[in-house]
Amino acid sequence: MTDDALVSGRPEATPAQRRTSQVLMRRAAFLDRDGTLIVDRHYLKDPAQVELVPHAPNAVRRFNYALMPVIVITNQSGIARGLLSEADYRQARARLDDLLEERGAFIDDHYHCPHHPDISGPCECRKPGIGMYEQAIVEHQIDAAHSVFIGDKLRDLLPAKVYGGRGILVPSPETSTEDVEGTLAAGFELASSLTEAALMATDASPNPET
Ligand SMILES: [Mg+2]
Ligand SMILES: [Zn+2]
Repeated sequence: MTDDALVSGRPEATPAQRRTSQVLMRRAAFLDRDGTLIVDRHYLKDPAQVELVPHAPNAVRRFNYALMPVIVITNQSGIARGLLSEADYRQARARLDDLLEERGAFIDDHYHCPHHPDISGPCECRKPGIGMYEQAIVEHQIDAAHSVFIGDKLRDLLPAKVYGGRGILVPSPETSTEDVEGTLAAGFELASSLTEAALMATDASPNPET
């Protein structure tokens, strides 16, 4: 971070942010998958195990109506661990898309990190790294500084600090006390459900500073 960024409190633009067109940019909803959109099954392999959290279609539809691209960003270290294959992941992803589409809700795109540092070495994509976000920002012309980052772990929200966006934690049974405390300490918000997070994110006017 440069001195300028520290003084203004505004993060420096990342390479992807510098590559997006000012004209076309849209704010997006970056959603974690496991424990946020669907019940966390730990290394989900069988598409039949894909189960939406309550009212997930309602929450996703709200972003759809607000014309905010819905981008799923998920760490899938089970692939590096050999517990599931890329094909298994794709099948579960298709099942998630189907369940939502049956209810008139749509995910614009999915990005996953198949790595684990202990097995496949360090990577740029594993959350809280921003590799997947950088790719999505360029591919979907996303205004990351005015986007919302939603998940059940603090690491799902931390990229909001890099971009200057908004982070909302929706605690699941997997959420630790440290994650809740870290969320509040970082100035992020808490919501009791994905639906509430969607309400908060879509009713909000753009950041007052702009
Ligand atoms: Mg999660
Ligand atoms: Zn990765």
